[in-house]
Amino acid sequence: MSDHHSHEAPDELRPESRVVHPPLTEVTGSRPLGVPLHQSHLFAFDTGDALAGAHGGPDGAFFYNRFGNPTVRSLEQAVAGLEGGTGALATASGMGAINTALLALLRAGDHVIAQRSLYGGTVGALTDLTERWGVEVGYVNGDDPAGVAAALRPTTRVLFLETVSNPTTRVTDLPGLIAVAKRAGVVSVVDNTFATPLLCRPIEHGADIVIHSVTKYLGGHSDVLGGIAVFADPALHHRVWRRSLELGASADPFAAWLTLRGMQTLALRVRRQCETALDLAGRLAAHPAVTAVHYPGLPTHPDHDLARRLLPDGHGGVLAFDLAGGREAAAAFTESVRLASLAPSLGDVHTLVLHPASTSHRQLSDEELAAAGIGPGTVRVSVGIEHPEDIWADVRRALAKV
Ligand SMILES: *Cc1c(COP(=O)(O)O)cnc(C)c1O
Repeated sequence: MSDHHSHEAPDELRPESRVVHPPLTEVTGSRPLGVPLHQSHLFAFDTGDALAGAHGGPDGAFFYNRFGNPTVRSLEQAVAGLEGGTGALATASGMGAINTALLALLRAGDHVIAQRSLYGGTVGALTDLTERWGVEVGYVNGDDPAGVAAALRPTTRVLFLETVSNPTTRVTDLPGLIAVAKRAGVVSVVDNTFATPLLCRPIEHGADIVIHSVTKYLGGHSDVLGGIAVFADPALHHRVWRRSLELGASADPFAAWLTLRGMQTLALRVRRQCETALDLAGRLAAHPAVTAVHYPGLPTHPDHDLARRLLPDGHGGVLAFDLAGGREAAAAFTESVRLASLAPSLGDVHTLVLHPASTSHRQLSDEELAAAGIGPGTVRVSVGIEHPEDIWADVRRALAKV
């Protein structure tokens, strides 16, 4: 390396120059066990050719964080590995991943087949694409491959699914629906946020792109907003990465670092959350104030058999239940919990409760709510990692107030 490009500040520099060029410490002779945080947005090169060569794709040299960053790349490789993908694109939020993928795949006049009762932000994005850009969207049920076949058009480009639906935890027949799309050359996108790659890996069922809001289980600690799209093949990865350069929804290195730190305990958290959720679902089902419990681990759930095939290692940490007392009872419950928090998220170390009819699904009419299986007294619980008996004591105490 020439003196001109040395990492060390030459001794002859004046203080004004030296403060701008502190020496960088490279690790040699040992290796860090914690993931290094590369909080550098910009990277310098020794030659113009090397800089020019860095622009080629998602695996190029680092030069400017919208194109890639070493800490962000670590997160991308970690999640791609868990999902069985060839690569991934980390984004500033789950919605950033969803919009970047959709805008990379679609143009005006294209057709999307979407599962009913997708995440509200995704429905909003699809509706906006329809109103502003003439993208047409048809909705199908998650247990209906024949519905996908019937909805196909020559202009269909994307099938958009969620592994587990919110808040009634319906499990989608991923192999059945994706097979229909594959035969028609349609790209399948699966939002796997609720399941995590520990419980379900949609690429094994034929998905082309898997999306996570890493804000939820992957981060897991209510301290980071982020998203990621994982790709089954490099050409699709390259195409969405290209689009991301224009949209600018790239992940920040510190957010990626927090996510990687959270992910080290993902397996422990998810196993505990699945066990506690199953236990809680059973206890809720036996409580007189509760008319129904929605949890795929219960034999009464309509997708129980499918869940045993698709989610063999556990049914997730989210469940919902219906209160006989309707809207007032749900309000009383969500305001009476003490250990749990009334907060609009999931997949956290903290137990969280939510009343979908007045929050995440408030834009739906009563008929639309009923069609989505959501009653006025439906409460969603995202189980945390607290002791199961403390969670149950809190829930039972709050149920006594409804
Ligand atoms: C939260 C969530 C999103 C959106 O993710 P953000 O990180 O909030 O942008 C998308 N899909 C599902 C299923 C979610 O739960």
